[in-house]
Amino acid sequence: MPLELSSEIDLEKLQSEDHNVILRCPFKQCNTRIIKYSPSFIQISVDNAPQTVKATKDELPTIERPTNFYQIDNVWDFDNIGVSRPSSISDDPIIGHDSTVKIDRLLICSECDKGPLGFAGIPTDKEHHHTNLKYFLSCNSTMYEV
Ligand SMILES: [Zn+2]
Repeated sequence: MPLELSSEIDLEKLQSEDHNVILRCPFKQCNTRIIKYSPSFIQISVDNAPQTVKATKDELPTIERPTNFYQIDNVWDFDNIGVSRPSSISDDPIIGHDSTVKIDRLLICSECDKGPLGFAGIPTDKEHHHTNLKYFLSCNSTMYEV
């Protein structure tokens, strides 16, 4: 199964052909399945996101400040995801699709503990409880198995 970068594939076309797309850890030795792409993912643009890794084809992932994320509201949609508590979390609220969230933790691969691949946050109008977390996976952080 070929592994591609998000910039190289047409998700809408693949979906219209009922083609399964699996998002995988960008670290080649790991390659763990993170999540299966679903049209229910809401793609959003964020201009003040924390840095994440950017998948590359032939080299180690690099670091970037990403702008494109999938908002995923249900943690059980993930096959493998870990979280880390960053020492300094930005207080800058992030505008999501349907809420403004404060970043609470960073997303990492649960298999190799590397990342970040995105972040998770709690809507500012909700109680600080893990069940209220919303997940934001950077579109560029994973490889796409098509
Ligand atoms: Zn991994």
